[in-house]
This record gives sequence, C-alpha cells and structure tokens, in this order.
Amino acid sequence: MTTLRIPDGKARLTVSPTGTCKVCGDTFTRFKSTQTICAKLKCATQVGKLQRKAERADTKRRKDAAKPRSQYMKEAQSAFNRYIRLRDVAQPCISCGRDHQGQWHAGHFHSTGARPELRFNEDNCHKQCQPCNTHLHGNLLRYGEELLGRIGNVRVVALAGPHPPLKFTIPDLISIRDEYRQKAKELERG
Ligand SMILES: [Zn+2]
Ligand SMILES: [Zn+2]
Repeated sequence: MTTLRIPDGKARLTVSPTGTCKVCGDTFTRFKSTQTICAKLKCATQVGKLQRKAERADTKRRKDAAKPRSQYMKEAQSAFNRYIRLRDVAQPCISCGRDHQGQWHAGHFHSTGARPELRFNEDNCHKQCQPCNTHLHGNLLRYGEELLGRIGNVRVVALAGPHPPLKFTIPDLISIRDEYRQKAKELERG
C-alpha cells in the first residue's frame, strides 16, 4: 500500500497502486484511486451493461411497489377469470345453456360482494354468456340447477359454506395471479 496524493493536493488516500479488475480478474495499475476495473474496453462495456440492468430492475421494483392493492386485485381477478373461461371452453353458458357468438364472462354463483372469500374459488365461478352475466344478474336460479349437475350436491353444499373470512394481501394476490396465469398457459398448451 502506498499513499497517493489526489491531484488537488488536499486529500490523501491510502490505496494499493495495483488492483484486481472486478470484471475480468486481471491485475491492473490504477490511474485513479477509485478505479475498480482495468482499462480494457470489454470490461468497461460489461460494467455499463450491468449498471443498466440494475437500473431497470430498480425501476421495475419501484413501479411494483407503487401499484395500489386494487391493481393487484384486478390482475389476479382477470387471470382467474381467463382460466375459468379456458377450463369451460367446451361448455355452454352455465345459466342459459346457450352457445353464443358474443362475449364470454366468468360468472360467480355466490357474488364477490356477498361472499368475498369465494372470489377465487373454482367451484364458484363458471363460463357465462355476457347477457346472463350483465343483464340477468347471473341468471342465478338456472345457474344453481346447472351447478348441481356439474359439481354435484356435496360440492354445492360445501361451497355454500360456512367459510372463514379471507383477506387477500398483496402477496396473496400476486401468487393467485401467477398461479392462474400458469394454469391458463398449461390449458392452452393442451
Ligand atoms: Zn478487466
Ligand atoms: Zn347465458
């Protein structure tokens, strides 16, 4: 170790005149006390690349942290609904038994307002035509009859509950979103 005098003469730093490049591991002679990489262009390029990658990851982290819970809820619900529509792709509307050319929804039997703990329960959600879902409030009488045929009495009764209240935290919503994106992908692959 030697003491280097910084050019303005005010500060003194004790550093080794030779260093080990943190990219390639080669030994190099410092021309600046703060230098941590050698003078080779590929090492400087590599450091720039790593810095930009770290900056991008940091931006993503900050964006994620700034998302409100409602946004995670939206993403989880849309991943879940999409999975339900794919799972029921060969089925007609659970309420009216029709096949139609219009939009398909994923309709809850017990509403998410009344039974929030059943929001992501697969027995509680089925492919439904847009008119039944939007205009007939789910057309629940016929939904109930068809549900009985699809999942059977035991599961209909189990679904009715009681169930412990579920509070979906942000980490819960992230794992639900990712789980259903994965399950949808597997169905699409067939
Ligand atoms: Zn190097
Ligand atoms: Zn319908």
